[in-house]
Amino acid sequence: MLEVNNLVVRYPGSHHNALSSINLTFDQGDFICVLGKSGAGKSTFIRCLNGLQLPTSGEVIWDGQTLSNRNEEQLRKIRREMGMIFQHFNLVPRLSVLQNVLSGMFGYRSSLKNLIGWFSEEELNQAKQMIDEVGLKDFMNRRVEHLSGGQKQRVGIARALVQNPRVLLGDEPVASLDPGTSNRIFTLLKEMHNRHNLLTVINVHDVTLAKRYATRVIAFKDGEVIFDGKPEYFSNK
Ligand code: ADP
Ligand code: ADP
Repeated sequence: MLEVNNLVVRYPGSHHNALSSINLTFDQGDFICVLGKSGAGKSTFIRCLNGLQLPTSGEVIWDGQTLSNRNEEQLRKIRREMGMIFQHFNLVPRLSVLQNVLSGMFGYRSSLKNLIGWFSEEELNQAKQMIDEVGLKDFMNRRVEHLSGGQKQRVGIARALVQNPRVLLGDEPVASLDPGTSNRIFTLLKEMHNRHNLLTVINVHDVTLAKRYATRVIAFKDGEVIFDGKPEYFSNK
């Protein structure tokens, strides 16, 4: 359903490739952790998968369609099938948990004051159900700025999943969290992966986390894949 062929990314003005000729195929059942040192190309790779970054050459193929050939409208539609979570959460701090999650349904709108009134009962229930699933039922109307880091990432996960995507992408979603919280977030991600049948691709710099949760580890070094396989065979050398 998702594959990359001879993917190359070189940023303008750079003298080396951020990604060099990457070939990978993903299965719906994969829970993938992408490992690699800072600058290895993990973030560039993740952003290629949903078309946020277009390749210099090569292609990303989603459901048989090459992303580079899609127009902005089609790309937006594809991105709705791929939720994404981020290191710094990318939430709206002054809005409530519910409002942030609802924003994942139709995107951020300029006038959010009456946001809740714009959604149908069914959509509201869908958002509330998702907030319940990530363990924030009692925080529904709390402003996000008053939440802990782990709670904020739970909001991020609910917002990413409220539109029922088939893929969940994560760009270092636990890099700002302590080890205990990181483990609880990964437990939740694994739960959501199983319950919603999500292809999950998450960047992480912590090898222990990757080995504990991934069904498949992909490691990058200097823009190349240096490992792709079961976590038990990965050695950090
Ligand atoms: P990682 O996520 O593993 O830290 P990145 O994908 O961010 O790696 O970076 C891969 C390479 O691309 C690095 O050499 C980095 O310096 C370079 N790079 C990343 N983003 C940009 C950019 N916007 N402009 C120029 N070079 C970039
Ligand atoms: P209450 O006073 O009803 O417990 P709090 O505002 O203390 O409500 O928040 C409830 C939960 O949210 C607590 O478990 C707390 O740890 C967490 N929390 C709230 N705000 C923050 C924050 N800024 N940083 C860390 N945790 C927070």
